[in-house]
Amino acid sequence: MRTAHRAVATTTIQTQLDQHVTALLGCRRCPRMKSTPVSGGAIVSDVMIIGQAPGPREPVLQRPFAHTAGKTLFRWFEEFCGMNEATVRSKIYFAAVCRCFPGKNSGGTDRVPTPDEIRNCSSWMDDEIEILRPSLVIPVGRLAIMQFIDCAKLEKVIGRKFRVERARHRFEVIPLPHPSGASPWHKISPGKELLRRALKLIARHSAVAAKAASES
Ligand code: SF4
Repeated sequence: MRTAHRAVATTTIQTQLDQHVTALLGCRRCPRMKSTPVSGGAIVSDVMIIGQAPGPREPVLQRPFAHTAGKTLFRWFEEFCGMNEATVRSKIYFAAVCRCFPGKNSGGTDRVPTPDEIRNCSSWMDDEIEILRPSLVIPVGRLAIMQFIDCAKLEKVIGRKFRVERARHRFEVIPLPHPSGASPWHKISPGKELLRRALKLIARHSAVAAKAASES
């Protein structure tokens, strides 16, 4: 009976998430964005990875973390959690601060989304938290981390676990630095050691460990 109830609940969540992703893909709230929204798909999961915003490749390849930063991120998960890219993509829900490519700024780097764009997009994340009720959220990069906790300095938050409440739900947050090659923070001390500590925390988290174990 209990199994039947759980199956019904999971089906309902899947339906809600399917509808949510369909609506998200149709969003056009931000006129300055240079692409349509990018989604990792309606993956029902108790773990969420939160990126910052897609780059120019992700809208073409139609998945988040599709280029160089993604290669590094998935290598981290493989090395510390024993989960390859396909497993991570099929077992963890991918969200982001903004789901559309913001375009380039005059210096040729990716434009940081404006506060109103971040505000526009935050309701999508709130809805995802309400639907999925995650036990673990992994924000990647300072902009994503700042949506959950203060982050004046990465040194103060990477390698630590936080309890956070958002969208009427409490969950744990383990932040990661952005894996893009643009910042060397995670390659040199103390970032290198703090990154290892953060990845070990993620690997030991019960929700992640269960997913890794189900693959082995
Ligand atoms: S950034 Fe978010 S709110 Fe803005 S158009 Fe894209 S999906 Fe919609």
